[in-house]
Amino acid sequence: LSALLEQEQDLPSVTPDGHVMPLMVNTGLALDVVASLKTRVGGVGLYRTEVPFMMSDRFPSEQEQARLYREQLSGFAPLPVTMRTLDIGGDKDLPYFPIKEANPFLGWRGIRVTLDHPEVLMVQLRAMLRAAEGLDNLRIMLPMISGIEEVDATLALINRALIELGEDGVNVSRPSVGVMIEVPAALYQLEALATRVDFFSVGSNDLTQYLLAVDRNNPRVASLYDACHPAVLRALARLAEDSLRLGVPVSVCGELAGDPAGALLLLGMGFESLSMNAPSLPRVRAAIRRVSLTAAQGLVSEVLCQPTAGEVHALLLSRLQSWD
Ligand code: PEP
Ligand code: MG
Repeated sequence: LSALLEQEQDLPSVTPDGHVMPLMVNTGLALDVVASLKTRVGGVGLYRTEVPFMMSDRFPSEQEQARLYREQLSGFAPLPVTMRTLDIGGDKDLPYFPIKEANPFLGWRGIRVTLDHPEVLMVQLRAMLRAAEGLDNLRIMLPMISGIEEVDATLALINRALIELGEDGVNVSRPSVGVMIEVPAALYQLEALATRVDFFSVGSNDLTQYLLAVDRNNPRVASLYDACHPAVLRALARLAEDSLRLGVPVSVCGELAGDPAGALLLLGMGFESLSMNAPSLPRVRAAIRRVSLTAAQGLVSEVLCQPTAGEVHALLLSRLQSWD
């Protein structure tokens, strides 16, 4: 079976009825920049910049960051590379920047940390923009957005970084900027977000955790953590619809996108692209190539009527088996 999937890796990610579903890859390490990926994906949907920060013993300098970011950008150019600003806090701690809190997932995380430390964010933004000079395939993505002020404050810093670099003679065009949809509050501010940013990307891992109030890392409640919970699926379906209406491209970069059944649901809901870890690509591509958009849409309608996650999984299992 895996040999079969391997053969398909160079074929396009298109459904039998001709709908193209671009597959993107999630990266973090320099090792994740693999030449063969360039012909198999539409670009990088999520580069987790905290990974190199976690492997360092201090905040990397602007120059060090620019070198790392350049590797990612040039490795995939001319394909787009979506760089997420530093997303620490929650479960991701830097040894040289400890955060001790009673409720870390509800605390100082992601954009909240970096907006409280604009000097850290400015170094990172300048490094990203500097690294993109001459390539222009950079997209910047903001994690843990829960309010419009956070977006406006970050956009102002991006502007400032562009002006500063221009004065230094660095010639870089304005990147696309997007937000992660991973805090439920973002779902209710799509109109205001749409006037400010160029794309949405769903962090289904955190969105599931926050919608269900289930810690994504706590084994005691692990059975309650389920991206196929009806509430999560309804939120996703509505988001896809709203984004389409608002004209904002929307993708998913959480684990749900790398699960073949999840990917088919996201296809049927109308998400425009899916981003996943490289090992998930073969099975998701195979699923997309075997199930028509129409069938995926039908599956979504059925799934959205199920009252429990258990029934959603049972339905997915029986449909996937019948399509095999
Ligand atoms: C997510 O929350 O789904 C996501 C992609 O980001 P992370 O897993 O890094 O929090
Ligand atoms: Mg997240």
